[in-house]
Amino acid sequence: MILCSVCQTENDKYATICKKCKGFLQNRVPNLDLFDILWRIIESPREAFRLIMLAEHKNYALFLYALYGISVAFSGFWYFRIGNRFENVLILIFWALLIGVPLGIALCPIVSSFHWMLSKMLGGKASFRASLGITSYALTPFTISLLLLLPIELMTFGMYFFTFNPHPMAIKPVSYIVLIGSNAVMMLWAFILLIIGTKVGNQISLWKSVLIVAILYGLVLRGVMFSGECALSLF
Ligand SMILES: [Zn+2]
Repeated sequence: MILCSVCQTENDKYATICKKCKGFLQNRVPNLDLFDILWRIIESPREAFRLIMLAEHKNYALFLYALYGISVAFSGFWYFRIGNRFENVLILIFWALLIGVPLGIALCPIVSSFHWMLSKMLGGKASFRASLGITSYALTPFTISLLLLLPIELMTFGMYFFTFNPHPMAIKPVSYIVLIGSNAVMMLWAFILLIIGTKVGNQISLWKSVLIVAILYGLVLRGVMFSGECALSLF
């Protein structure tokens, strides 16, 4: 809660003007600057999510989801070891983009809605738009994975990263363990970020936020895996 200094009315934590006297409460944030927020997410996630909550427009939410979709597509190609279905790495990258972008854009309203509904069930205050902002910016580690780790994976292992013939572990064991380990760390970081964002945005307890994020991750992971298996059995 934020107290109006003029009329002493209690206002929502993320209100910028008093609901009673229209007095100034805190600076309004009309837009989000992508690089500024991504940097703040790394430096001080609480402050970043506070700004995301205050922002009138949750800019770049769809863009971040599209990048996430591409990241999911590459992970799927790796997980299901289907590199041999593509002639070369360039064609594989082309398909990851072709599948990934619409996948990410489709996941955007689905994941945001689930996050919003789960939050509402546990007494959270976040609106659908807040859930959209929180979930999209919590995907930052996947963006870093895609832009930083994937190029290294492609340069080190090429197609073998997706064909497992021979197993990438047999080619460069240390590099493979370091890269897979780094990806795991990024996933854990995204998980923690979403817990922080859910807590800040909903103004609820930590354990409720953990519960929301655990259920959401379980649902999304199962959904994506199921779709992947269905797509594989079709082609
Ligand atoms: Zn007031």
